[in-house]
Amino acid sequence: MSANPKVMQGVEPEFKLVIDGKLVDGAATLDVVNPATGKVFTTCARADKAQLDAAVASAKAAFPAWSATSIETRRQALLKIADALSARIPEFAKLLTEEQGKPLAHAAGELGGAVAMLHAFAAMDLPDKVLRDDARETIIQRHAPLGVIAAITPWNFPIVLLMIKVAPALLAGNTVVAKPAPTTPLTTLLFGELCAQILPPGVLNVIVDQNDLGGFLTTHPDVAKVAFTGSTATGRKVMASVASTIKRVTLELGGNDAAIVLDDVNVKETAAKIFQGAMVNSGQVCLAIKRVYVPDAMYEEMCAELAALANAHVVGDGLDAATQMGPLQNKVQFEKVKEFLEDARVNGKIIAGGKALDRDGFFIAPTIVRDIPDGARLVQEEQFGPVLPVLKYSDLNDAIARVNASEYGLGGTVWGKDTKRAVDVAQRIASGTVWVNKHLELPPDIPFGGAKQSGFGTEMGQEGLEEFTQSRIVNIAK
Ligand code: NAD
Repeated sequence: MSANPKVMQGVEPEFKLVIDGKLVDGAATLDVVNPATGKVFTTCARADKAQLDAAVASAKAAFPAWSATSIETRRQALLKIADALSARIPEFAKLLTEEQGKPLAHAAGELGGAVAMLHAFAAMDLPDKVLRDDARETIIQRHAPLGVIAAITPWNFPIVLLMIKVAPALLAGNTVVAKPAPTTPLTTLLFGELCAQILPPGVLNVIVDQNDLGGFLTTHPDVAKVAFTGSTATGRKVMASVASTIKRVTLELGGNDAAIVLDDVNVKETAAKIFQGAMVNSGQVCLAIKRVYVPDAMYEEMCAELAALANAHVVGDGLDAATQMGPLQNKVQFEKVKEFLEDARVNGKIIAGGKALDRDGFFIAPTIVRDIPDGARLVQEEQFGPVLPVLKYSDLNDAIARVNASEYGLGGTVWGKDTKRAVDVAQRIASGTVWVNKHLELPPDIPFGGAKQSGFGTEMGQEGLEEFTQSRIVNIAK
């Protein structure tokens, strides 16, 4: 696979839609804002409903031939995509920083994660399983592909979250229509362009909207499954709209993950890890630490450590090598996080940060808030920004109850020197993933999914792969 010829010739990519293997102008264009400046830095193609229908039609037309290929052929296609993406990580990473805001090293890390995801799924298999084979009958379970998958992604990790859907969908023999968030369309379009040079026409289509086409995708009669990552509010709408055609659906939604600190930790070391877990990607991580519960006796020291870390954290343009934390991704989120700052000011005590930076772009200073009640918005809701409330507890059972008193149940962390006790606590957290003495490791071969209103279904791992298939039982008389 050669690199993108347009880029090699120094010509800027045009960011066109990918429909039926062709790069297509949009019915309209969409301005894309660099969150580090707050200014439009490029435009891309934007689809209308007719182009969405064309993308679904091309995926539907490509499905019979693609699903009839061997899994080995599809595995090789994923590996080719991984190689092509791997060869262009610097180009994709710079574009990701420009559209998303994260520091360049983190953007390159996300691309590396996407390549790893492709490799991990390429190493998986979907063998037939003989459930019974006796004198009377043979019963076999097959994993048949579903058809056209709608892959709908958010703006916090545009590329790795796309790969979690595209890689298993394609390996299982499905075809895909991908739709990124309107504020981060570029890396997804470039990925679609890259794939168009590797995959047969129609196997992977990419359309871009302005938050106006999602509903058409989720109700489209020719879409078999919706693989959605985004907010719980939108997830509810998606779940309601797939009901009309009984589509398969996976929902990876919001979280309000807690860190529980036990009374035997080294506060300084634990504070550094918690700070990182709360502020990475400017707090815009579904699994970010969004509230911290600390024993009474450690509260002062933990608050002081977290505040010192916040004051020392370097915030700036992700393209600047010194930057440790970039801006919020978009203006809407920036305004929302400012509301949380106001809530913190009224209901708690801000001990670091507490304001937007006085410069262009969507920058919020890393913020630590103490002495805030459980009922405050900042504790109850998903802030999705670099504003961390620190809460006190005197009774561990009570702390666990407070952690679990949430409509969310995505992740969580427990920090303790006595690992056995920490694991016992972890087992009482009503979430899909709980880490003990570490955070945010998501190996592609380990299943991932939310509890309660954080999600429905599983992504990643063998289970995540099988969610892109229909179990088909073949029951044979002897
Ligand atoms: P969002 O729900 O606003 O948008 C997500 C995607 O849905 C976008 O592509 C958007 O265009 C599309 N969309 C909007 N309306 C739609 C509709 N009616 N039907 C179908 N699609 C529609 O989410 P966001 O603000 O982009 O992302 C932030 C949220 O995503 C946070 O809540 C975060 O916790 C969550 N998230 C969850 C995970 C996870 O794996 N659980 C991972 C990352 C982010």
